[in-house]
Amino acid sequence: MPRLFLPVEENPRTIHITGEKAHYLASVLRCKEGEELEILDGKGHSYRAKITSIVKKEITADVLGAVTHSTESPINLILIQGLLKGEKMELVIQKATELGVSKILPVVTERSQVRNTGKTGRWRKIAEDASRQSGRTAIPIIHEPVAFRDIFSGDSPYAPYFRKCKGLLFWERKGIRMKKGMESLEGCRSLIVAVGPEGGFTEGEVQVAEDHGFLVASLGSRILRAETAAIAVIALSQFLFGDMG
Ligand code: SAH
Repeated sequence: MPRLFLPVEENPRTIHITGEKAHYLASVLRCKEGEELEILDGKGHSYRAKITSIVKKEITADVLGAVTHSTESPINLILIQGLLKGEKMELVIQKATELGVSKILPVVTERSQVRNTGKTGRWRKIAEDASRQSGRTAIPIIHEPVAFRDIFSGDSPYAPYFRKCKGLLFWERKGIRMKKGMESLEGCRSLIVAVGPEGGFTEGEVQVAEDHGFLVASLGSRILRAETAAIAVIALSQFLFGDMG
């Protein structure tokens, strides 16, 4: 059944699809009247709907009912990612989405080689495509990049996350093993994980995060590339606290 994300209100009765998405259904997938679709609102709700008419690239569908199964992880996992060059950042967004993160916050750090990307729109599209492909019912929120140190200031829009979530910052030079950190993370439903850019975090940045309650964590004795580290951290978090493995 074709699946598509549409910003519909909660429990709609009829759905109208226009523009690019209608074109995709009618011309690319060649959907016909009577066919069923799964409509995802991107916030975790999904509905089964039947196409009742296709007129001039406008599709109308009647909602048959809400789909109750959820493919979302029981943990709210937020990835803070030091900006990476071009395709590496896109890879992290795609893989992090498949692995079930709920938010990605790209950050500019002292050693970031990339500072201003103008790529947020493209990243959001990648996240939407990866959500659809992986059968997720929600699309992770991709924030605009911000300076790493600014996220900790009291008036930062991210400050509320730090109050309700446990944070782990991954540092290749020292840190607790995730398994060991588990006791203090036991029962935690929200987790923030921070991975540096290609050049890693500076000592000063690690200190700021520690001062704000982050645990400094290690991924073992091998130094991983930033994109490998991000994927490993998310998979391990879902294994230890979420729904993988
Ligand atoms: N420039 C550094 C490596 C940075 S690796 C050097 O060459 O020494 C990029 C990011 O991946 C780091 O900021 C860290 O968040 C993460 N990372 C890679 N290997 C890691 C490890 N063994 N333990 C914890 N974090 C690691």
